[in-house]
Amino acid sequence: MRPGSSGPEAGSNARPLAGEVDVLVVGAGVTGIYQLHRAREAGFSTLLLEAGGGVGGTWFWNRYPGARFDSESYTYGYLFSRELFDEWEWQEHFAAQPETERYLNHVVDRFDLRRDMRFDAAVTAADYDDATGTWTVSVADGSTYRARYLVAATGVLSVPFFPDIPGRDDFRGASFHTGRWPAAPVDLAGKRVAVIGTGSSGVQIVPAIAGEVASLTVYQRTANWCTPLNNTPITTDEQARLRADFEAMRETLNTSAHGFLHDAHDRGAFDDSDDERRAFYERMWASPGFSKLTSNYLDLLFDEAANDTWCAFLADKIRGIVRDPDVAEKLIPKDHRFGEHRPPFVTGYYEAFNNANVSLVATKQTPIVRMTETGIETTEGLREFDVVIWATGFDFGTGALLRMGVRGRDGLALADHWADGPSTYLGIQTAGFPNFFFPGGPHAAAGNNPRYNGDQVDFVTDAIVYVREHGFDTIEPEPAAEEAWTAMIDRNAARKPSFGSSSYYFGSNVPGKPRKYLLNAAGRPKLFEMIAEIVASDYQPFILSRTSDVESEAASR
Ligand SMILES: Cc1cc2nc3c(=O)[nH]c(=O)nc-3n(C[C@H](O)[C@H](O)[C@H](O)COP(=O)(O)OP(=O)(O)OC[C@H]3O[C@@H](n4cnc5c(N)ncnc54)[C@H](O)[C@@H]3O)c2cc1C
Repeated sequence: MRPGSSGPEAGSNARPLAGEVDVLVVGAGVTGIYQLHRAREAGFSTLLLEAGGGVGGTWFWNRYPGARFDSESYTYGYLFSRELFDEWEWQEHFAAQPETERYLNHVVDRFDLRRDMRFDAAVTAADYDDATGTWTVSVADGSTYRARYLVAATGVLSVPFFPDIPGRDDFRGASFHTGRWPAAPVDLAGKRVAVIGTGSSGVQIVPAIAGEVASLTVYQRTANWCTPLNNTPITTDEQARLRADFEAMRETLNTSAHGFLHDAHDRGAFDDSDDERRAFYERMWASPGFSKLTSNYLDLLFDEAANDTWCAFLADKIRGIVRDPDVAEKLIPKDHRFGEHRPPFVTGYYEAFNNANVSLVATKQTPIVRMTETGIETTEGLREFDVVIWATGFDFGTGALLRMGVRGRDGLALADHWADGPSTYLGIQTAGFPNFFFPGGPHAAAGNNPRYNGDQVDFVTDAIVYVREHGFDTIEPEPAAEEAWTAMIDRNAARKPSFGSSSYYFGSNVPGKPRKYLLNAAGRPKLFEMIAEIVASDYQPFILSRTSDVESEAASR
């Protein structure tokens, strides 16, 4: 099948032949939905396969109490359609999961995308055929599809991680992972509940359920620097302003390093006196979401002494909120700086520990020995529970891609290709895997995810349109281009002190995983700069080829 020849005509949305499409997208999260829309708009025949039973990706699976954005809702939602932006009124500055799931379903229906989506369709294998330049994609139910382009929008936080605690399966009560929370209501009222893990999900669920459960025991391995989310409803005036300022907001988001609206500060921590710094930190504490990172002192992530002043301020805040000094000390991180781990944003987290029914177990001091049929045993003894909640995070970055059974040219398994960690070009493709793209995957983003992931989807779409228009069949990066990009990612990650390698950004939460930086710290401007150069150079850093070349090469051997 030549692209654009046996698929539907450009611009038409005719249904593709069963089992054979131009563009096969895996994943119905914010990235895959946009990819499906862009590919169809560009006239490709399309199909999207999703392991889950519905639309939303992160916002389909993470329906635990308290799950909500840390990005401002209107900066997270799509910006490609002014009409879409105008008709959807986000209710809160940081929307909770139900609203985001509703929004993504609205987008799917508004752009009539559902007819090209198959749910409960987990991809188990994807094999590249060099002779035809196509991918054969196998689904768990035994069905297979063939596609010229395979786009894995499988997410970086989509494979839940469970720590290897002895006897984990012995527990006879109810257990849930926050990243696989059931759609049916979970009744926690009056129950003895354990929450294991105090990353971004754990610290959201604790205050959300503390008031209804009989007892809540929080198992903390690593204390995190939590700061207030400062969420509020969006007022009618704010709604009007958002609409009036749409173009300006889009411009700001599209030129900001991290895809947020927050203004960058123009001073270093020691440009201010102690009193001025304290007053500034109070304003930061009261500011919304990620602005504590993006609008803080310029040297916060580069100067250890500057970072120390902010951490000391936060430690005092924790001591001021948590009444039991011993608990407060346990909640103050001692092993990493602010920004080294993904900073969680909270609503009433520290306050929850003042409730008589909430207690903290710091597992570095009193390690978990094993799970039993009735509860969790630490070195201090057994506590019994009705419900255990695993807020233990994800196999970040590469987890979903490496479980998809991807095999490129000559049967090379992606899992082998990336045995020492991912190597990518632009966080979009890897050499030896023609026509395979993974927007929103490793090396994709470090900030407001949909903005980066959308840039990548736009790049993928423009690239395959270019391939089609120029009569090529396949596209893959030059190995040298990939090497240079990956080296740049690793170089940026080595900067201190913000990127100590103890966080899941380096895969360090998963035993045995190579410690490689999985984000893109270079920021969107670098991505834009490179994309502009690539387009201007007629896709020079890529190898474009025709399958007829492969055939004649094979014949001449
Ligand atoms: C609780 C939580 C809160 C978050 N909050 C924010 C936030 O405020 N701001 C922010 O920028 N980011 C946030 N994130 C990160 C979030 O993951 C991204 O913002 C975004 O949702 C990623 O979208 P995606 O489409 O790339 O991936 P996902 O939303 O993860 O979607 C990937 C989809 O691919 C499917 N899939 C994977 N493998 C297969 C397979 N083999 N076969 C079929 N389907 C498959 C999965 O089932 C999933 O539905 C949050 C993450 C979590 C977990």
